[in-house]
Amino acid sequence: MSEDAHKTLCAYVEEELQVKNPQAYMALIKPATHYCEGCGRSAAKAENLCKPQKL
Ligand SMILES: [Zn+2]
Repeated sequence: MSEDAHKTLCAYVEEELQVKNPQAYMALIKPATHYCEGCGRSAAKAENLCKPQKL
C-alpha cells in the first residue's frame, strides 16, 4: 500500500501540495502542535513530520 497515511510534510512539499492544494496543506499545518527538528516545518500532527518535536 501507499505511505499516504504517514506521509511527512517534507514529502507533501516535494509534491508541491502547498501550491496544488493550499487548503489541504493548511489543514495539515494548523493548528500547529509540533515542529520538525530536521527541516523546521510545523504541523498539526507529529506523524506528518520526519523529526517531530513538541511546540
Ligand atoms: Zn522534516
